[in-house]
Amino acid sequence: MDKKVYVKTYGCQMNVYDSMRMTDVLAPLGYRPTEVPEGADLVILNTCHIREKAAEKVFSELGRLRLLKDARRAAGGRMLIAVAGCVAQAQGEEILARAPGVDIVLGPQTYHRLADMVATVERDAKARLIDTDFPVEDKFDFLPEERTPQGVTAFLTIQEGCDRFCTFCVVPYTRGGEQSRPVAAVVAEAGRLVAAGVREITLLGQNVNAYHGAGPDGREWRLGALVRRLAEIDGLDRIRYTTSHPRDMDDELIAAHGEVPALMPFLHLPVQSGSDRVLAAMNRRHTADDYRRLVDRLRTARPDLALSSDFIVGFPGETDQDFAATLKLVNEIGFAQAFSFKYSPRPGTPAADSPVQLPEDVKDARLAGLQQLLRAQQDAFNHRQVGAVLPVLFQDAGRHDGQVVGRSPYLQAVHAVGPRRLIGRTVPVRVVAALTNSLRGEIADPVRGDSDDTTVEETVCA
Ligand code: SF4
Repeated sequence: MDKKVYVKTYGCQMNVYDSMRMTDVLAPLGYRPTEVPEGADLVILNTCHIREKAAEKVFSELGRLRLLKDARRAAGGRMLIAVAGCVAQAQGEEILARAPGVDIVLGPQTYHRLADMVATVERDAKARLIDTDFPVEDKFDFLPEERTPQGVTAFLTIQEGCDRFCTFCVVPYTRGGEQSRPVAAVVAEAGRLVAAGVREITLLGQNVNAYHGAGPDGREWRLGALVRRLAEIDGLDRIRYTTSHPRDMDDELIAAHGEVPALMPFLHLPVQSGSDRVLAAMNRRHTADDYRRLVDRLRTARPDLALSSDFIVGFPGETDQDFAATLKLVNEIGFAQAFSFKYSPRPGTPAADSPVQLPEDVKDARLAGLQQLLRAQQDAFNHRQVGAVLPVLFQDAGRHDGQVVGRSPYLQAVHAVGPRRLIGRTVPVRVVAALTNSLRGEIADPVRGDSDDTTVEETVCA
């Protein structure tokens, strides 16, 4: 009999990927995904430790789930609860101690063992299991082939963990050291995704451009070589990758940006700060000028490259001059989009113990100033596309009847009126308006074979 598993995913794209793979792992036990926790036989919280108060949010969610679990028991049924991901890795024992409803705790590197753990607690109602090892085996060798239905775009994890130890970041502690999947395994998974209809793959890794997977020639391949190999897959129209560290952006990858048409001209390249003093305190191991020179080289290779970044404001000891240096860098580079956050201490990281934490009101004011500038840059970038014809890969039906939505090469959402059969196809679209978070477009030319109903009269998008 089919059982239902509900997975709630917090955080980054890698957790989205991991959640799908956990669902794949559970399929042989008869578990099928469900959209709501009510009625689920197994609920998995796939947690993230990046945001502030991450653990508190998990504990309050577990409190709500406990009520569901009790109600299920009162009705003569059983609901299992598992906590996975980075909070589980960091605070697994505490979760078991504080949340009696939890049956299973497992870290990001052990979810290939999830089916065995679930089978054990299904057999033994008293069992409570925890597995937060960094196992010697590679979990990818033990995962089944992907079963979860894919759309037009998909994530593919190629690298995990990080050896860089930025002083604000928990990743090296929760995900462990850098590991890269072999080229053959990545190519095989990409081939299966494309055969299932995927047209765009985003390669994932905590520090994805540190990729150094075993190549079929017995040598280590870096990300640039992997991208070139993936671009040879017939039917794979677009490749992206995230998230990168400036220090790991090598010549081969920069050249790939200029030479591989499938590699999209949009790069998320976190800089975090424009102050050398703060960058050193963050252990980023590059200067603001290093970042400027790198961007110059990337834009020489691919002149239309659009950049995105991460920023942390109010890092311990950050002065007004340091913050001004960040604004200066942002003004000089010009970002198409960005993510910016106030610094908040992560337990166990070096910066959390710094004695020079900044007051919240200072952080608030700086964040507001930076976000105003970044929003203006994003707005200007989007408005510059108005009148241009962009190749848009349509991914889904829009919110309104007769509307389809896709992405430009620069990762902007684009809405246009068109038939659903455009989904999965890359179509030239004339941008007619820039909205707050998306572009509105018109199909630029009748699409071959679709001329009867792709002529656009009016767009009706959000
Ligand atoms: S490079 Fe990225 S993942 Fe690695 S420690 Fe720094 S911020 Fe964290």
